[in-house]
Amino acid sequence: MDDRTFRNAMGRFATGVTVITTKTNDDDIHGMTANAFMSVSLDPKLVTISIDHRANMLEKINESEQFSVNILTYEQKEVSMHFAGQKEMEEEVKFEFVQGVPIIGGSLASVVCDVHTSYEVGDHTLFIGEVKDIIMNDGEPLTFYSGKYGKNKID
Ligand code: FAD
Repeated sequence: MDDRTFRNAMGRFATGVTVITTKTNDDDIHGMTANAFMSVSLDPKLVTISIDHRANMLEKINESEQFSVNILTYEQKEVSMHFAGQKEMEEEVKFEFVQGVPIIGGSLASVVCDVHTSYEVGDHTLFIGEVKDIIMNDGEPLTFYSGKYGKNKID
């Protein structure tokens, strides 16, 4: 099977959009757009993210052993584009901190985690995060389907 067929099929799974954020020991904050995110376990509370081995984020999380998953609102589409390297934001990105971990304020939810385990799988690494704190805000979700951003209207 060719890569294009696989990517096109996976793109038919409609998702929300997150930005993963972390801070390394030398106070270097790093963010990256990601939609490979899922809830794993309620007891204990675990989530997972999947990071491409080519992404700078990989060594940042390996070093910090912490990350937050910021679930974006539709109004944060530019934030997603910025942290995917698609389009620079005009204004400076401001981070807030929860338990020393950077989060993106105004997100639908910011899920703050310690790395519980990680697994190298093919050309990605799965990080299982143990949830330490959650901050939530109201809004409408940014969605991603077939390579395009969209808006899920909540009635
Ligand atoms: P870089 O390319 O180094 O950084 C990304 C951008 O963020 C750059 O523009 C950089 O300037 C900016 N940035 C980083 N830190 C800061 C900071 N502190 N202040 C201001 N700007 C900063 N890839 C995956 O591995 N897993 C996924 O699940 C995934 N899902 C995606 C979903 C969508 C909808 C999209 C559009 C892309 C997705 N990607 C995913 C691809 C990934 O977002 C890009 O390949 C990304 O550029 C790779 O991140 P990096 O760590 O190499 O960051």
